[in-house]
Amino acid sequence: MTIDIIEPDSAQAAAESVERAFSWFSEIERRCSRFDLDSEVMRLSAQIGSPVVVSELLFQAITFALSVAELSGGAFDPTLGGSLEARGFNRNYQTGETVDSGLRTAAVATYADVVLDPVGSTITLLRPLILDLGAVVKGMAIDLAALELRSFENYSINAGGDIYVAGHGPDSDRWNIGLRNPRQPDQIFETLRVSNVSVCTSGDYERRSGNGFAGHHIVNPKTRRSPPAIASLTVVAPTAMVADALGTAAFVLGPRRGLRFLERQGVEGLIVSPTLVSHETKGFSRYRQ
Ligand code: ADP
Ligand code: MG
Repeated sequence: MTIDIIEPDSAQAAAESVERAFSWFSEIERRCSRFDLDSEVMRLSAQIGSPVVVSELLFQAITFALSVAELSGGAFDPTLGGSLEARGFNRNYQTGETVDSGLRTAAVATYADVVLDPVGSTITLLRPLILDLGAVVKGMAIDLAALELRSFENYSINAGGDIYVAGHGPDSDRWNIGLRNPRQPDQIFETLRVSNVSVCTSGDYERRSGNGFAGHHIVNPKTRRSPPAIASLTVVAPTAMVADALGTAAFVLGPRRGLRFLERQGVEGLIVSPTLVSHETKGFSRYRQ
């Protein structure tokens, strides 16, 4: 993660805000990581059939994930943790350790098996399943970090390719964001000029499984395979949580349905195919000017 603040009035105020901003990432990790058996979400995943009282943060993350699941007709599904673990996506990136939850999961489980009770702040899992909030919580952490920086005019937050920018960068009236060529990730495919938005990119080159699974880290819940028709997908949206999650949903829906989905949700997106042909939403080109 990188945070940049352009010419803050007080270096000390900036340092304190940056520290508070970073602390959201560890807080979210502690509550929402699938790669830590002691995290709140993994303790929840170990309790099937009875209501569990959860923190506000976890409740909000799951509520948001379930609404994206509904909006996308189940293309997005936060109950894929078992499938992802079985495919070898189970290494803690901080410790390098492989995490085996030992939890049994039902192949038929879907987001419909997660029941929310906002009054009691409880969540009930109706079938054995492992929640995976990987497509939601990085964006959520960026948005919470941005709240800590709101007294500054010009700043950027970059969490591994998911970005939020406010105001302008060091030498422009906006921020310039380079999108990688998905087949040559050390090269820039094109540059966007944006301000006060989040830009999140998902790529098929990003993460591969450790155990020979042919796909990458995005899985279609219906086929249990990785969607083959998209190499990378970028969403520009007002918040990182929205950009992050809608991007993953559109990735599963595929180029045509994915772009229609993004347009319906009122956000802009760019999809690059494995042969480097791009398709984009109607309003996307405004970010090139
Ligand atoms: P990145 O982590 O590179 O930003 P994404 O934002 O595209 O990537 O999120 C991918 C993550 O989303 C995966 O690592 C996994 O945790 C989760 N995921 C994979 N497939 C789905 C899906 N169909 N629905 C919801 N979440 C998914
Ligand atoms: Mg993402």
